[in-house]
Amino acid sequence: MKLLVTGGAGYVGSVCSTVLLERGHEVVIIDDLSTGNADAVPLGAEFVEGDVAEVVSDVLGTSGTPRFDGVLHFAAQSLVGESVQFPEKYWRGNVVTTLELLEAMRHSGTRKLVFSSTAATYGEPEHSPITEADPTRPTNPYGATKLAIDHAITSYSVAHSLAATSLRYFNVAGAYKSAGENRVVETHLIPLVLQVALGQREKISIFGTDWPTPDGTAIRDYIHVLDLAEAHVLALESSIEGRHRIYNLGSGAGFSVREVISACARVTGLPIAVEDAPRRAGDPAVLVASSDRAIADLGWRPEHTDLDEIVADAWAYLQELGDRSHAARR
Ligand code: UDP
Repeated sequence: MKLLVTGGAGYVGSVCSTVLLERGHEVVIIDDLSTGNADAVPLGAEFVEGDVAEVVSDVLGTSGTPRFDGVLHFAAQSLVGESVQFPEKYWRGNVVTTLELLEAMRHSGTRKLVFSSTAATYGEPEHSPITEADPTRPTNPYGATKLAIDHAITSYSVAHSLAATSLRYFNVAGAYKSAGENRVVETHLIPLVLQVALGQREKISIFGTDWPTPDGTAIRDYIHVLDLAEAHVLALESSIEGRHRIYNLGSGAGFSVREVISACARVTGLPIAVEDAPRRAGDPAVLVASSDRAIADLGWRPEHTDLDEIVADAWAYLQELGDRSHAARR
């Protein structure tokens, strides 16, 4: 297939592009490099630097035979805290941009879409694990914009025969080959803990030690980015015109913040300094996915569910990145 990947210079987008290229697909990436990195664009992909909203209709074309078989839409603003402070950046950057993409898909006759949705669409869960039938009550603008996009995609699918899938990611982690998590502003637990191991950060703050969990720290469902990429491929291959399918993607097991820190210490063999800190606003105690629907419908199986394996892959990537930038400075 010939595929358009928005946000292909970002973490998840670059891993998925790598996997799609390996499977023999043709990949064109649009990315404005606002949070992504040109070095992350995989070899073999065509790269268009620009704002998705501005360039997408030119890239997809306006009429006649569609140029692309499908779109994978990763480009987004994705910092929860920032979305509370600057919601305008999220409503425009996520919702308005995606509406432009949907219009460009309609005009060009491009039907297949896989969208990066999120567990943040559910908000504070009523029970665990979370299923797709659970209430969606986002607790921050980031989750609200992703949910609004899910609704827009549903109505486009019905009215304009899109073959769409929203994948609601839980906590994505790990790395694949030379693609991994490397943001300028890092907020995610595993890369932050590994920065402590690398000596780039003095210590890791544990946000809340009084949660109603066995060790008092918050529990999350960490999914290996390679398993996530596999789900994108399966979603594309099985998409159905006129339908918008929604799937949760997690490993199905929860790990506490302290368990993640222990795994990082084990894998790196290095001490990790920690400090207890207050809870972070808007954080739920436990977020674990039921991925039963994706398993049943897509035939998807998460294969890299071992926490030490996820951390080891993230660690190998960060070390390689360090070696590359060290070599570049010499
Ligand atoms: N966390 C933490 N210290 C940090 C960063 C994160 O204790 O410096 C906790 C956070 O409160 C949450 C878990 O680690 O319970 C995972 O957070 P992350 O930001 O990686 O993902 P989120 O679950 O917020 O999407």
